Amino acid sequence: MRQSQLLIPTLKENPADAEVISHRLMLRSGLIRQLASGLYTWLPMGLKVIRRIEAIVREELERSGVQEVLMPVVQPAELWEETGRWAKMGPELCRLKDRHDRDFCLGPTHEEVITDLFRREVQSYRSLPVNFFQIQTKFRDEVRPRFGVMRAREFTMKDAYSFHLDQACFDATYKEMYDCYSRILTRMGLDFRAVQADSGNIGGDNSHEFHVLAQSGEDTIVFASDGDYAANLEKATAAPPPERSEGNEVLQRIPTPGVRTIEQLVEFTGADAHRCLKTLIVAGDDGPVALVLRGNDTLNDIKAAKLDGVTSPLRMATEAEVRSAVGCAPGSIGPVNLKLPTYIDRYAANVADFVCGANEDDVHLTGVNWQRDVPLAEVSIVDIRTAQEGDPAPNGQGTLRFLRGIEVGHIFQLDRVYSAPMNAAVLDPDGKSIVTIMGCYGMGITRLVAAIIEQNHDDNGICWPEPLSPYDVHVVALNYERSEAVQQAANDIEVRLTQAGYNVLLDDRGERPGVKFADADLIGLPHRITVGERGLKEGTVEYRRRTDSDNRNVPLDGVVECLRG
Ligand code: ATP
Ligand code: MG
Repeated sequence: MRQSQLLIPTLKENPADAEVISHRLMLRSGLIRQLASGLYTWLPMGLKVIRRIEAIVREELERSGVQEVLMPVVQPAELWEETGRWAKMGPELCRLKDRHDRDFCLGPTHEEVITDLFRREVQSYRSLPVNFFQIQTKFRDEVRPRFGVMRAREFTMKDAYSFHLDQACFDATYKEMYDCYSRILTRMGLDFRAVQADSGNIGGDNSHEFHVLAQSGEDTIVFASDGDYAANLEKATAAPPPERSEGNEVLQRIPTPGVRTIEQLVEFTGADAHRCLKTLIVAGDDGPVALVLRGNDTLNDIKAAKLDGVTSPLRMATEAEVRSAVGCAPGSIGPVNLKLPTYIDRYAANVADFVCGANEDDVHLTGVNWQRDVPLAEVSIVDIRTAQEGDPAPNGQGTLRFLRGIEVGHIFQLDRVYSAPMNAAVLDPDGKSIVTIMGCYGMGITRLVAAIIEQNHDDNGICWPEPLSPYDVHVVALNYERSEAVQQAANDIEVRLTQAGYNVLLDDRGERPGVKFADADLIGLPHRITVGERGLKEGTVEYRRRTDSDNRNVPLDGVVECLRG
């Protein structure tokens, strides 16, 4: 392909509004352009990368026995009403009406549509297990679209859905998909980790996310220093605290004028933060709910929103709500005689002789002890704290360490969350109707492009891994339009490389060498061959791997061998 005929609008300067390196490089190297917030047009070079990713994904899914379908982006509301998600989904779901005033949405995911297809078309256990995938546009009206295609509103996802008669069959497919995802990301040369995850809006209990490690990642992933425990921070848990020791202090009320925060309380009382318990009031289904943590811990919103009676997503009570429920300001609450449903984090439940609010403005209690002062039968002990780096890891696997990751894939165990309400059932060998067990498996195709760049770039631009590069070889012809020798040699190299199976991009533009080299680095094809008059006089061209620092002279007729070597 001739570069002069291809739209590759490179930019010299960093675009002001691009925060992460992949977004900057995707704009600068002319892979994408923004249409509106979270909406992107893919230009020729970007689209080529997408197609290569899709090809790898297709190949590996087909190898794992998954069959390809294509479902509509626009989905009827009735299906979403069957599963209750029409009411449950917030503004992320983009709803629209057709000319007959019927409700539809733009698919953010396709569980309802595939389950509908399945229940209509599959009737017998003999057809199971079955696993379908598609590569399709999704629309999610994200609160904060950012980082370019990493968190867009319209994006491409590969989503797959499997149906099973029993758990053992599902488990085998889940493992197959886990391995399939690992193969896909390995083929792309990515440094990735699979971690236990929260299953969010999609439902189901257990799930795994696949993260590409990168400083710019939006997620924190947590690992055990000695062992295989790995989880998203949203889900991560530390080992349980040691047995509670009995306290012996006497309960005292102390005036604490103006003390509202844990820092102030620590300073005022001289007690360690871990002995100062904080009580947070959150909105609940039947009124406010209290959550108690150690002063040095932070609440994990995702864990808390899962508690019985707590509103999901989590919402902190307003100051007015706290006053009317407890009778004091948010900084003066404590679990003693608190007449609200109360959850105690298990680390807080382990503290003796603690300090907490007295449910009265400007008063705190010291020397407080569980059971003696707060009967444990009246509260629930749960895990609601955010794991911290250095915490003891579960199962005694050393301590917890943190890394940043970009979530590129997520596999879920849906159980019967969709198949039961939609009655996706088959007849078993005895003619009995069995509701199927489902799995679903997502992978962000367009997000992968950004993740790949986060891991493959240098100061001058992208460094495409060979299996994903838009073209294999960049033939940079200097003075192409004026030198017949250069033209002839470059054209000849293009033909020979093409015949040898390489995809070639020939820079035939009338630009100065400096511009051509800078663009070649920015675009980042893995191999570059520079054809110039000076070298041709000696019968040579220059070869450089994108990730090497030096050029190498290669005889004109040794170009193909040089790439193979
Ligand atoms: P996130 O936590 O990042 O919002 P999610 O849990 O909502 O992701 P899933 O519903 O599991 O994502 O979607 C499957 C995959 O689709 C994700 O692993 C991710 O790679 C991709 N994806 C999700 N949301 C977006 C988005 N807004 N832009 C680009 N890709 C996305
Ligand atoms: Mg999301």
